[in-house]
Parts: sequence; C-alpha cells; structure tokens
Amino acid sequence: MTAKIYYDNDADLSLLEGKTVAILGYGSQGHAHALNLRDSGVNVIVAQRPGGANYEAAKRDGFEPLSIEEAVQQGDLVNILLPDEVQADIYRQHVRPHLKPGKLLMCSHGFNVHFGQIEPPEGVDVVLVAPKGPGHLVRSEYVRGAGVPCLIATNEGASEESFRLGLAYAKGIGGTRAGVLQTTFAEETETDLFGEQVVLCGGVSHLILAAFETLVEAGYQPEMAYFECLHELKLIVDLFYEGGLSYMRYSVSNTAEYGDYTRGPRVINQQVRQEMKRILQEVQSGQFAREWILENKANAPAFKAMRRRQRQHLIEQVGRRLRELMPWIEDKKVE
Ligand code: NDP
Ligand code: MG
Repeated sequence: MTAKIYYDNDADLSLLEGKTVAILGYGSQGHAHALNLRDSGVNVIVAQRPGGANYEAAKRDGFEPLSIEEAVQQGDLVNILLPDEVQADIYRQHVRPHLKPGKLLMCSHGFNVHFGQIEPPEGVDVVLVAPKGPGHLVRSEYVRGAGVPCLIATNEGASEESFRLGLAYAKGIGGTRAGVLQTTFAEETETDLFGEQVVLCGGVSHLILAAFETLVEAGYQPEMAYFECLHELKLIVDLFYEGGLSYMRYSVSNTAEYGDYTRGPRVINQQVRQEMKRILQEVQSGQFAREWILENKANAPAFKAMRRRQRQHLIEQVGRRLRELMPWIEDKKVE
C-alpha cells in the first residue's frame, strides 16, 4: 500500500482565518513554522524562554516572545516544537492546564504522544505535521516559493475538522507545495526510531567504526582507513540521494559495483537482519522508549558516558587532523 499524498488544492488556508497559532519553541522547526505561517497570512504567536540566541532571533524576526502558559492560553492551535526529551514535563506543568476543549494540540514528531508521555485532555485532538527536513530548509524552500514534503497524522478519534486544520497548517508552512503524506502516529514514530537506530545514526556510524578498526588492527595507517571508511562515504551518499542505488552503482567503477553485489550481503548478513527485527520489536513494544525515558529521568548517566567515550575514539583524532588538510570542508567542532 502506498501513501496518500495531499497537495495545495487539497488544503484550505482559510480554515485558519480568525485563529491564532501558538508555536512553542523558536529552534530549528519552531522558527521556520512561525515565519512561514506568518508569511502565509496566519496569526502567529511564539513562546520562547529568554536568555539564549533563539530568544534574540524571535525578537529580531518581529515576534514578542511569550511564556508557554500565555501562548497556550491565547492559541487555538498549539504546536510543541521543543526537544522531545523535555516535552512531557513541560506539557504536564505548563501546557495541559491551559488546553481548553476545542483547542488543537500539534507536534512534529510522534514519540511523546505515541508512547503516552503527552496525553491530550478530553475534547482536544492531536495532529502531527512533520517536515521531512531541518528547519532551515523548511524556511529557505518556502522563501524560494517551494516547500519541504511533510507527514500528517491525527490521534485516534480525532475529528475530520482537526485533520483539515492540520492540512491547512501544512499548507501554511509550504508543505503542500511539495506534498503531504498521510501516516499514523505509530508509523511515524516507529519508522523514525528504527531508521535512526539501524541505518542513519547507529548503523552507519558503527559500520564506519568497525571497518576503520579492522583496517587499523591489520596494520594499515589510520589516515588511510579514515579516508576509505568515512570521508568517501559522502560522495556515495550524494549519488544515491540523487539517483537511487542504481545511479550510485552506475557511477562507481565496475570493480566497486561487483564488490557491492558479492560482499555487501556478507556484511549485512542473516544475523544482522535478525538483529534488525529484534530492534524493531523493541521499538514497537515500547521497550526502547521506556529505556530512554528512564535514562533521562536519571539525568542520562549512561548516555553521557557513552558520548564521552565515543568522542575519544582514534577515528575522531585522525579525522580532526585530516579535515585541516581540506579547507573546503567547513570543519564543525564538538566539545
Ligand atoms: P531545537 O532543539 O532546534 O529547538 C528547541 C526549542 O525549544 C528552542 O527554542 C529551545 O530554546 C527550546 N527549549 C529547549 N529546552 C527547553 C526547556 N527546558 N524549556 C523551554 N524551552 C526549551 O528543536 P527542533 O526544532 O529540532 O525539534 C522540535 C521538534 O521538531 C521535535 O519534536 C523534533 O523531533 C521535531 N523535528 C525536528 C526536525 C529537525 O530536523 N530538527 C525534523 C522534524 C521534526 P533555547 O534556545 O532557549 O534552548
Ligand atoms: Mg527522523
């Protein structure tokens, strides 16, 4: 089954006339949603705590940042665009008490709603509108007259009207210019976690590390291992980002393509596929969510220790030195 996709003609911006949209958080997504909606003629208010760069940015962009309570009280649509780990506490303390029936709660990632950390009160529906790109792209594409594709989902029992308000919101941020794909909270949340664990973050970084360590342990210079196993990955990813795996395989040498077909399945073998299934089950059962929520409640000791250890890896030291030889790379430092 393929996804249903909504475009500009399927969405009615006038549904937002006379309504106020409250954007909680002026970070990556928050600033882009707020600016795009305002440019689409929507009445937007912003909640942003003072003291940081995002507060200054909101003021510079012509908003009068409010407290979260004030924004929830004044908003008809309330979009929580805060980091996922802080949403549940802030929701319980500052959002939920002011969420009167008839308001619409929104988010851009389903984790907290799907795993029961944010439970809307009676009479409040939840709509997810999730751009498939970072906030700066959501903004720059909109300004260019285009948009970033979005996902849309409603919680169980939500009204048709809430869904149409969500579509109007998606139009206001430019999403329907590109296409808005219908999904569910479960599907968005579970595929997002699975993808980042198995491929995007967990899978790729540990594939790089394992290959790097294999070469270094075999006596090759770490600089060579860095170039082959990490640096060149970008070239390959760009190729299949633009034209799929076939275009990547067309662009590399026949030797590389033959190695792909014959050796690739030995790296990603049955055992790896079995492990992927187990990881998916941990996501679906809520086991991963519970682990991560409890870890945060304990102030993330294991998370911080792993982060510290990983940052000291040889590949990070070698990489820092080699990137200095390549001035066209805008070196990003993490301390
Ligand atoms: P950011 O980290 O960019 O922004 C978070 C905002 O929340 C900032 O304005 C920050 O203010 C504020 N904030 C952080 N902690 C607190 C706190 N304890 N109390 C009050 N305000 C706080 O978040 P994103 O925009 O990346 O993410 C927002 C949502 O969008 C998440 O649900 C995420 O999953 C989702 N999303 C993100 C995408 C992305 O590419 N970034 C893509 C699609 C969805 P301050 O500057 O003061 O810290
Ligand atoms: Mg994701």
